[in-house]
Amino acid sequence: MSEKTILVWFRNDLRIHDNEILFEAARKADKVLPVYCFDPFYFKKNTSGNAKTGNLRARFLIESVADLRENLRSIGGELIIRIGNPAEILPQLAEQYKVNEVYHHREVAHEETDISEQVETALWKIKLNLKHFIGHTLYHKEDLPFPIKDIPDSFAVFKKKVERDSTVRPCIGTPERIFTPEITDAGELPSVAQLGLNEPVDDPRSATRFVGGENAALKQLSSCFLNTDQPGMLKSSRNAAGTEYLSMLSPWLAMGCLSMRKVYWEVIMHQPPYGNLLVLDLLWRDYFRFMFKKHGQKFIAAKETSAISPKLAANQDELFESWKNGETGIPLVDAIMHELNATGYISNSKRQVVAGYLINELKVDWTKGAAYFEEKLIDYSPASNWGNWAFIAGINDARESRYQIAGKQPVGMESKSEFIDTWLPALLA
Ligand SMILES: Cc1cc2nc3c(=O)[nH]c(=O)nc-3n(C[C@H](O)[C@H](O)[C@H](O)COP(=O)(O)OP(=O)(O)OC[C@H]3O[C@@H](n4cnc5c(N)ncnc54)[C@H](O)[C@@H]3O)c2cc1C
Repeated sequence: MSEKTILVWFRNDLRIHDNEILFEAARKADKVLPVYCFDPFYFKKNTSGNAKTGNLRARFLIESVADLRENLRSIGGELIIRIGNPAEILPQLAEQYKVNEVYHHREVAHEETDISEQVETALWKIKLNLKHFIGHTLYHKEDLPFPIKDIPDSFAVFKKKVERDSTVRPCIGTPERIFTPEITDAGELPSVAQLGLNEPVDDPRSATRFVGGENAALKQLSSCFLNTDQPGMLKSSRNAAGTEYLSMLSPWLAMGCLSMRKVYWEVIMHQPPYGNLLVLDLLWRDYFRFMFKKHGQKFIAAKETSAISPKLAANQDELFESWKNGETGIPLVDAIMHELNATGYISNSKRQVVAGYLINELKVDWTKGAAYFEEKLIDYSPASNWGNWAFIAGINDARESRYQIAGKQPVGMESKSEFIDTWLPALLA
């Protein structure tokens, strides 16, 4: 009987722990062919003229893929790395290595699903099946107490029902060993320059240099439970004075170097006093993904009759330039934008402040801001980014949001300095 080979197409799931496509391929096939494609689509300019991927995220991605390769090697495998369109590369590799099936994790945002559809069509032409798995959420779609079409649009209702009626599945084991076919050309990791971007220069003021990969992710996760200034307290919890304790896990969650379930079960195991806040934050991530699954692009599309869309400024382009360069003249906003530009990461509160300011104060089209965040954020995730921006812009129906309130903060303030005095110490601490 001939051998069965399954090609595992890695995308935003760059890990070997809790990874169903890898685990199932190892279980069902004699040979596993892991592949990662650096797709040029993600390194071109977006409609606003910004790069779709900035150089800080590109470096993080390269590090993550390098780490995945090492981890796969540690269990006997090898990662094939290519630069190019997966709809062309995957069928070629599938034919070359006599693959029987291709596995991948299903995405929700339209650019990502378009790419999967192209791959599916190309594979179909050579009579191969692309099998879809669900692996990006905390709660499995099939364990929700409602079908996708009936998911409540209100986060509060979604949270209440999910917490009451659903459970989080245990993590899937890491395969002890995988066997890859004999590989003739595994391919080299590209440099940032080969992806068409300038090598990033680290800003000496930045407190954290995010290093991509599963190993760094697991280290960061452990550090969440070792907060020395407040023992036993998660960094992501907020104390009474409003100081933020951030887990800073988002870059690894976004690239799938870390699974949501892994974070959840670590919280349960350590039972830190404020662990429920971190779990609540993870639920926001699920919520946005499920909203995209339910509504697609409509979730972020303005309704024509909407009275809540602010009237846009006549000189939007100029205002947008000043915002993105941190030259608005508002110290808080400018400081946050400098931090974003220099590091690729700002906290949730800071994101709300600058997004709210752009939309409500400068009256610039929110999609420009979202596209700019898409370039700059190391943790860029389509559903989280576009969903949160649309939320702050008042586009979608999910109104009971603390984000919407915080996002509108700059509008109501009498004096900008008062706002800064009240918020700056807490936000920039
Ligand atoms: C305008 C705007 C744009 C955003 N863009 C992104 C994005 O592209 N990618 C991204 O991961 N997050 C995005 N967020 C959500 C949030 O700001 C970040 O997830 C969070 O700041 C990451 O830091 P942390 O890991 O320390 O978060 P923690 O507070 O420690 O939370 C733990 C995890 O919960 C999830 N989470 C927390 N808050 C949210 C939220 N509001 N929405 C979705 N998930 C959340 C994240 O995965 C985060 O890593 C955005 C928020 C706003 C207001």
